Amino acid sequence: MEMKIAIDGPAGAGKSTLSRVLARDLGFVYIDTGAMYRALTLRAQQRGINLHDDPALCALANSINIHFESRAGIQGVFCDGEDITDAIRSPEVNSEVSIVASHPQVREIMVKKQQNMAQTSNVIMDGRDIGEQVLPDAEFKFFLTAGLQERAQRRAMEMESQGYYIDKNVIEEDMQKRDRMDSEREVGALKILVDSIVIDTSERTADEVLAHILSIIGEG
Ligand code: C5P
Repeated sequence: MEMKIAIDGPAGAGKSTLSRVLARDLGFVYIDTGAMYRALTLRAQQRGINLHDDPALCALANSINIHFESRAGIQGVFCDGEDITDAIRSPEVNSEVSIVASHPQVREIMVKKQQNMAQTSNVIMDGRDIGEQVLPDAEFKFFLTAGLQERAQRRAMEMESQGYYIDKNVIEEDMQKRDRMDSEREVGALKILVDSIVIDTSERTADEVLAHILSIIGEG
């Protein structure tokens, strides 16, 4: 019987860093669902698709193939065989991904893809609606959060390491806007579930969060 771990939370809460290390330590597959919405957004932008055109986005979502490859601790993201790992982190994708992710029918297609990916292995999946929609039967559901300033600071550092130098206030505003859209949408909204274990990462290092989670799932 496979084990599923769901990790939800707002942007910059440390979900992907934690999920990557947790997957490595446990020997699980890591599925970054945010990267999947980003891949769809990137392709829509490249093809000049109107991001409010529901049928066109659904057709695109159905036609693309997204997969992950982990190499040397880096989670590579591929769309139809093309490496888009860096391209999906651009400011253009950041600012429009929540529009794409707000379409209920697009989400339905993406949720099915994510469930198929999780079917045959032990997985750690991170996103916004994982505990509620994608893996409602997950053995563990974590909700990671942190203060807005801390999250923006982390995202600024992450973007700098990718070669994007953006004013911290701009990142903060962008994040706030994205969090609002992600929390207020009708389907798959970001929320704390009754069975989520909430962890505030503001005052903890990545190692401390990892140790805490490992102790909860009985591997620490
Ligand atoms: O996790 P990340 O910040 O890369 O996610 C990018 C965006 O993708 C989120 O702001 C959200 O709009 C969307 N998303 C989603 N549902 C998920 C994962 C991400 O709507 N499960």
